[in-house]
Amino acid sequence: ESAIATEKGLAYYDPARDPYSPERLTLVSELRHALHNNELALWYQPKRCLKSNEIVGVEALIRWPGRQPAVHADQLIALAEQSGLIRPLTRWVMEQALAARNVLLEAGLDLTVSINISPNNLRERDFPLFVQRLMTSHHRHRGRLILEVTETSMMQDPANSMRTLRSLDYAGIPLAIDDFGSGYSSLSYIKQLPACEVKIDRSLITDLLTHTDDRIIVKTTIDMCHNLGYQVVAEGVEDEETIELLREMDCDMIQGYVLAKPQPLADLIGQLRAQDSQPPVPLNLR
Ligand code: C2E
Ligand code: MG
Ligand code: MG
Ligand code: MG
Repeated sequence: ESAIATEKGLAYYDPARDPYSPERLTLVSELRHALHNNELALWYQPKRCLKSNEIVGVEALIRWPGRQPAVHADQLIALAEQSGLIRPLTRWVMEQALAARNVLLEAGLDLTVSINISPNNLRERDFPLFVQRLMTSHHRHRGRLILEVTETSMMQDPANSMRTLRSLDYAGIPLAIDDFGSGYSSLSYIKQLPACEVKIDRSLITDLLTHTDDRIIVKTTIDMCHNLGYQVVAEGVEDEETIELLREMDCDMIQGYVLAKPQPLADLIGQLRAQDSQPPVPLNLR
């Protein structure tokens, strides 16, 4: 293939990494088409409180059903960010998430719905105003739509992000810090954030049973977050033993394949209903 010179030496040309490659431009126009024609979907993954053992919320995750070969969420979001589509995409996600809240409420499930926000959204001047207006016209969902931002995304433009997050907080929008522990944020910055929830990154949870150092980091993070007034969610929990360990560590909530994989809303509601009608398991058999 064609080698190109970079500052660090020679690199091979990879069309997938070139924002202006024809393949990429085609993908972007396909994505634009999918967004405008309502062909994207949100799938939902539940979050459980470890004290009450109840499902307390769901996280909405973007999907592109039927697209072959599949374009994964991370890749889809990167494409949307590079092409300016992230602005309409996030607005679509928010509206879908509020509609999902209505469907959940009708099914008797008053769950919070969390959505993911891109760093680009935090740089949109009118973003807080858009969210405020949306919450005014959907006031029954006030305080129940949680916005997740990653610590890394805020560090790209700390001052501006802080200003945006403060005005969202002022408008009563709950914020969560996503993927905590995967980036390089400063603790002095984190402690100023108007967040209610910190989600510990899956990379720190995966080997919790076998890696003592991860256990120390997670326990210390949980204690620190509690001292700063944040609720803590462990991401990517895949087995019961890890749940027990997190419970001992006083973690507030968990999310992960152990509860459910992300799935269409109707399927998730079906699963939650089926679990609900199960006879309770005697405590000594849990
Ligand atoms: P995230 O917000 O940290 O979401 C958690 C990711 O971990 C999801 O991947 C989820 O499917 C996956 N996951 C959850 N539990 C487990 C587990 O037990 N094991 C394993 N191996 N994985 C688990 P997904 O859906 O591929 O999304 C990846 C990322 O893409 C998200 O990470 C988020 O940063 C971004 N994203 C997804 N949807 C949206 C969206 O609507 N807007 C924006 N801006 N970003 C989104
Ligand atoms: Mg998230
Ligand atoms: Mg995360
Ligand atoms: Mg992530």
